[in-house]
Amino acid sequence: MSNKVVKFGGSSLADANQFRKVAHIIKSDDKRRYVVPSAPGKRCSNDVKVTDMLYKCCELAGSGVDFTEDFKLIKDRYNGIIADLGIDISLDGEFDTIASELKARPARDYAASRGEYLNGKVLAAYLGFNFVDAADVIVFDTKGHLMLDETVKAVRSHLKGLDNAVIPGFYGRTTEGIIKTFSRGGSDVTGSIIANAVNAEIYENWTDVSGFLVADPRIVDDPEAIETITYRELRELAYMGASVLHEDAIFPVRSAGIPINIRNTNKPDDKGTMIVSNDYDFSRESLGHTITGIAGKKGFSTINIEKAMMNNELGFGMKVLNVLYSNGISFEHMPSGIDTMSITVDSAKLEPVREKVISEIRREVNPDHIEIEDGIAILAIVGRRMKNTRGTVARVFAAMAHARINVKLIDQGSSELNVIIGVSENDLPEAIRRIYDMFINSEK
Ligand code: ASP
Repeated sequence: MSNKVVKFGGSSLADANQFRKVAHIIKSDDKRRYVVPSAPGKRCSNDVKVTDMLYKCCELAGSGVDFTEDFKLIKDRYNGIIADLGIDISLDGEFDTIASELKARPARDYAASRGEYLNGKVLAAYLGFNFVDAADVIVFDTKGHLMLDETVKAVRSHLKGLDNAVIPGFYGRTTEGIIKTFSRGGSDVTGSIIANAVNAEIYENWTDVSGFLVADPRIVDDPEAIETITYRELRELAYMGASVLHEDAIFPVRSAGIPINIRNTNKPDDKGTMIVSNDYDFSRESLGHTITGIAGKKGFSTINIEKAMMNNELGFGMKVLNVLYSNGISFEHMPSGIDTMSITVDSAKLEPVREKVISEIRREVNPDHIEIEDGIAILAIVGRRMKNTRGTVARVFAAMAHARINVKLIDQGSSELNVIIGVSENDLPEAIRRIYDMFINSEK
């Protein structure tokens, strides 16, 4: 029987009202059989996530301080939800176990994982679904790395014969029996792994936005949502800081060819964003814009090096990059001319070794001139359709020229999936708005 794996984030399960929405969504499609919940998140902007409350209790316990008061706030969150939903379960036994475990062995991962564990218990009771503990199915090695094959086997054997299940997100257990979590936001990863294991037709990731937007709404007014994006495009945009989904959530579904649909629990009729593989049949989608998304990131510096006849000097680039390598700095972009080379690096990484890097480059390649320019922002214009469209780069430059924005750097990868430009940090918002106008507003 085909099925869908549905993951609900913390804000989707922050209180009883959100639980009702979630249950309604699940019950409205009987393929939604496997459910992965996060811990209760924020109910309003100044609220505290249960996960953070648990970390705090663990810290207090670790320093031998009484955490009863803080723990009571956690109990109140769950008991409030249970009472409001009118379900007949008590978590008192669980609370006692957790409190005494924290006193005896205050382990951070164990503490944090209880947020999802308890929420899974509540949601399973409310839905009338089976509860499957993630500790029994998500397997880590002793170093804390996920063991995907073992995990898939365990998921399949535990779900065998079950029509439905709630499997808490965010954690699993090592082969030595210790509770281990993914990094923050890791319930996304659990959902992706479960989708892989049950060979889901789709992995629905329900959150509080209707998918990815073409540009940052803090910069562009009411930007359009992205209907379909490929994994590769998403990687480009995610790298630039557009985050909705945990980075590690992509691999398990991608390798199994399962699409991810980002959906909004508060607007369930919105289609959200579909994340698909590169060979997806795009003929089904409505004709979109040339570009898929625009993202920008501040905080870069360029190391500009000039030397006459640089192009004839064997190993010049290698020597320069070796200096960066030995100082632990990776580079982002490296456009070069006949006698010039310009390397873009993360300013924060460069800062502590700045003088050292300059003097080592001087010593290694004896340049005519070397300087560092700070305050650079990198802007990525991403889109799979650019490959078959002429004039994209010309339009980017026309937009910049009209806005009198100086382009300091240009880079287009061979994949033709993105165009990267570097501008001064002060110009970044305007550059994004102009590109949005050029490619989205004018293509409407
Ligand atoms: N509850 C965890 C966190 O706050 C994991 C998650 O929500 O995905 O990071």
